[in-house]
Amino acid sequence: MSNFYEAEVLSVHHWTDRLFSFTTTRDPGFRYQSGQFAMIGLDVDGRPLMRAYSMVSPHYDEQLEFLSIKVPDGPLTSRLQNIQVGDAILVGRKASGTLLSQNLLPGKHLYLLGTGTGLAPFMSIVQDPDIYDKFDKVILVHGCRHVSELAYQKRIEADLPNHEFLGGMVAGRLLYYPTVTREPFENQGRIPDLLTNPEFYDKLGVPPLDIEHDRFMLCGSPAMLKDTVEVLQAHGLTEGNMSHPGHYVIERAFVDK
Ligand SMILES: Cc1cc2nc3c(=O)[nH]c(=O)nc-3n(C[C@H](O)[C@H](O)[C@H](O)COP(=O)(O)OP(=O)(O)OC[C@H]3O[C@@H](n4cnc5c(N)ncnc54)[C@H](O)[C@@H]3O)c2cc1C
Repeated sequence: MSNFYEAEVLSVHHWTDRLFSFTTTRDPGFRYQSGQFAMIGLDVDGRPLMRAYSMVSPHYDEQLEFLSIKVPDGPLTSRLQNIQVGDAILVGRKASGTLLSQNLLPGKHLYLLGTGTGLAPFMSIVQDPDIYDKFDKVILVHGCRHVSELAYQKRIEADLPNHEFLGGMVAGRLLYYPTVTREPFENQGRIPDLLTNPEFYDKLGVPPLDIEHDRFMLCGSPAMLKDTVEVLQAHGLTEGNMSHPGHYVIERAFVDK
């Protein structure tokens, strides 16, 4: 059996000239946990061209959803950005990743800190009922340069709290804090700076960072991860993994070459 299967593109939505989302069919045998990533790609000249992608869709969804950057000269995304409904996408059969609640110590507040396409795994997690069993509040912080890059805002703010099945769990417990760095907006600033700013916690209506109750998942650029981990470690928080749960877990949103 091949390591990949062919999924069919069901919808494509372009957020900006740098960012788009798409949904595909899902092989019923493809299993993953919310927050994980898989290899996806295209057949290019008879060979698979694959890259790591986080699933936006929660583990129970019948379709797969992805949020993608468009890198102008990127080997995959220069092609992937042109996909149309009905096209074939290759999806790897194995999912992996560290953004799992089992890698975290029990806590009250779960902070999901993402920049750019680093939002993708957290979209999956905030649509998963299990996370609301484990945490009282789930605080989703999405950092972007421009307001137009705040993908899924409507789904987070309007659709999820009114969702037929998830609404009761999500309403009042999923707190959303979009923030931009390059233009005026209601919230501004980089994620590492927000974590040390009392105004951030005031706006959310939660107490300041507290090692006893707060847990963190991070997904962003190498610079965002480095600076945010510095803040967390300065508060005594430790990284969790598959063998030792900790106060925070991290995943790279991409690798800088
Ligand atoms: C664990 C993991 C999960 C990932 N999940 C996603 C995802 O859900 N969505 C997604 O779009 N990408 C994701 N990526 C990045 C993805 O694997 C590819 O790098 C991306 O699709 C670009 O592919 P490419 O072949 O066009 O360019 P590449 O040759 O892969 O990348 C070229 C350059 O573009 C920049 N770049 C690549 N990806 C991004 C990005 N997402 N945001 C900003 N700059 C970027 C980097 O500087 C990189 O060096 C993930 C990467 C990892 C390691």
